[in-house]
Amino acid sequence: MSQQAPRSVASAESANATDLQIYIDGEFYGRENAKVSVFDHTLLYGDGVFEGIRAYDGCIFRLREHLERLYESAKYIMLKVPLEIDELTEAVAETVRRNGLRDCYIRLVVTRGVGNLGLAPWLCPKGSIIIIADKIQLYPPEYYEKGLAIVTVPTMRNRVESLNARVKSCNYLNNILAKIEANNAGCIEALMLDHNGFVVECTGDNVFILRNGRLLTPPSYLGALEGITRNCVMEIAREEGLEVLEQPFTRFDLFNAEEAFLTGTAAEIIPLVEVDKRKIGDGTPGETTLRLIQAYRERTTRDGYQVYS
Ligand code: PMP
Repeated sequence: MSQQAPRSVASAESANATDLQIYIDGEFYGRENAKVSVFDHTLLYGDGVFEGIRAYDGCIFRLREHLERLYESAKYIMLKVPLEIDELTEAVAETVRRNGLRDCYIRLVVTRGVGNLGLAPWLCPKGSIIIIADKIQLYPPEYYEKGLAIVTVPTMRNRVESLNARVKSCNYLNNILAKIEANNAGCIEALMLDHNGFVVECTGDNVFILRNGRLLTPPSYLGALEGITRNCVMEIAREEGLEVLEQPFTRFDLFNAEEAFLTGTAAEIIPLVEVDKRKIGDGTPGETTLRLIQAYRERTTRDGYQVYS
């Protein structure tokens, strides 16, 4: 099966930085002037929520699902999002329009707002909404063509009882520590386990395995983010007649899987070909994985919010 060129991932740099228009609480600012207070508790404590979203050819992929997840995260941490969902939808679309973008990565942040130096969130009267829509850069094509090698890291995923991973909070230290450990081992992603040794997810991606012909992904109750890409891939796979289960599995199952891959908004679907020096399948991207990559890409330009229509 032929492979398309890989899409892209959020870039730290815009191709035309001077043009960037960043939304903060209903106003647009250039990169230099887009600022929030040093007393905002999102800066002081990581107390806030966010979303990473993508637009493909003027279509914001599954925007509604991303926004619903944002409101659910906010509810969990008792943070009031200052806009209603329809207003926020328009604010995101307007940010993309203002920047004249068709293909972009969108970072949406809701901060806790300005308070004092104590923890108390109830002393922060109002949060801020920040929306950055920026150009995107290609992930190296070899990740998709050759697949990815990753390692399991010592840092375990946060326990659900402590901080439920379904909350996409601005505190990503759990993931960042794991990412550092992966980087120390020469890998770009880390496999994270729970306290019982079950596979949970990677630092910024969900994980899937094809084992005995069935597609398995860890259930979110183990501490995995309920990824928008993950959910879309499960839908596609079921439509194609595959049996799909949200079921706990261990590294043993991963090592002995026929195929494995990661999913995420930035990465889309990346084949996994090696974990902890064990080859997955024959060590090349699997047939089912390649088929899902193709089907997912076909969906990205039609399954979302049309910005320019
Ligand atoms: N897990 C984690 C920890 C993430 O941060 C992300 C988002 N980058 C994902 C999974 C994938 O979620 P989505 O498909 O919604 O981007």
